[in-house]
Amino acid sequence: MKKRKLGFSTISIHCKDTASRHKSDDPARAHATPIYQTSTFMFDSAEHGAAVFAGKQEGYSYTRFGNPTQAVLERAMAHLEGGRSAVTFASGMAATTAVVVSVVRSGEKVVASDTLYGGTHLLFKRTLPKMGIEVVDVDASDLRNTERAIDKKTKLVFIETPANPTLKLIDIARTAAIAKKHGVALAVDNTFCTPYYQNPLALGADFAVHSATKYISGHGDTVAGIVVGSGSHMDIVRKDALSDMGASISPFSAWLLLRGLKTLSVRMQKHSENAIEVAKFLSKHPKVKHVWFPWLPSHPQHALAKRQMRGPGGIVSFELKGGRKAGAKMMNAVELCVLAVSLGDVCTLIQHPASMTHASYSREALRRAGISEGLVRISVGIEDADDIIYDLKQALTRA
Ligand SMILES: *Cc1c(COP(=O)(O)O)cnc(C)c1O
Repeated sequence: MKKRKLGFSTISIHCKDTASRHKSDDPARAHATPIYQTSTFMFDSAEHGAAVFAGKQEGYSYTRFGNPTQAVLERAMAHLEGGRSAVTFASGMAATTAVVVSVVRSGEKVVASDTLYGGTHLLFKRTLPKMGIEVVDVDASDLRNTERAIDKKTKLVFIETPANPTLKLIDIARTAAIAKKHGVALAVDNTFCTPYYQNPLALGADFAVHSATKYISGHGDTVAGIVVGSGSHMDIVRKDALSDMGASISPFSAWLLLRGLKTLSVRMQKHSENAIEVAKFLSKHPKVKHVWFPWLPSHPQHALAKRQMRGPGGIVSFELKGGRKAGAKMMNAVELCVLAVSLGDVCTLIQHPASMTHASYSREALRRAGISEGLVRISVGIEDADDIIYDLKQALTRA
């Protein structure tokens, strides 16, 4: 019988896309992937070492270039995102940087969406210009803006959808068509959805970038990043960006991500279920002015959400009628939700983007990105929804 292609949850648990009984990559046949906590690997002979370094023989030489624990994670992520290969990094920012430097050189240009994770915004506005790379940001939810900004110098379009923290969406398939028409690569930050809910490569993107710190780890205990892709650029991501820039993931972090990955599908389902409840609760609350959540029919891009995402994930943003002051009072009054940045954790996190994750944005950039002073972002966890809502309700009495 033809080998059956395994489903998402099965791949995330077994880290392979077809069943193969009793096969193990590990010499001791360990059931759980071992943490290969080693910096270097032994060669059988001088000739063996030379062959590995020359790429004539498969094998490990040094953990910055590759490590068996990393390799299991990379294989699993490539299968889950539908890419040819994946490369893991020490952080999401290292993964984003790797994509940019693999595709763009000094004197060339990146077209980016205007609502991005704060760190990505800083990389684009502070560090890339120092390297002679220009970044033009546009409201990429309107595809005409993206197309207009692309010129002969443009090598990369970089978008984040849903965007952090406003949950604005960008049509990936149509952006990919524009990028292809102009011979430009497209990278999508897929941190909010994870491959469980959205697959940028299947929609035509060249790279899916992840802050694995978030949902893929899922437990708020490590920082890591992953790039998945299909094209020849992936070799440059590994050889130049990983080896030369050196931001490789530690074997222990890779192992934590493998452990997180096994429960990604059930966690994402529960995050989504809870977030739907929280979004509904907030949208009916008299002190709440507006709720941003792609699964609410009131979201201006609800139809696009249903088309390109298979579920909403756990991020809900909202604005209180009392603005920033009311938001601060509410955040100081929560008892169960944790006042902290980051997202995708099993526990509910609440934060204020304008003064925290997006503090690097100028007033003008905040305005253009639609991040108001009163915007509060919740990363809804997988606790009991009733407990989360009870906590938000009691905190809102102080707002
Ligand atoms: C956190 C985050 C990043 C950066 O990832 P790190 O792991 O913190 O370096 C990039 N994009 C998005 C959407 C994020 O939430």
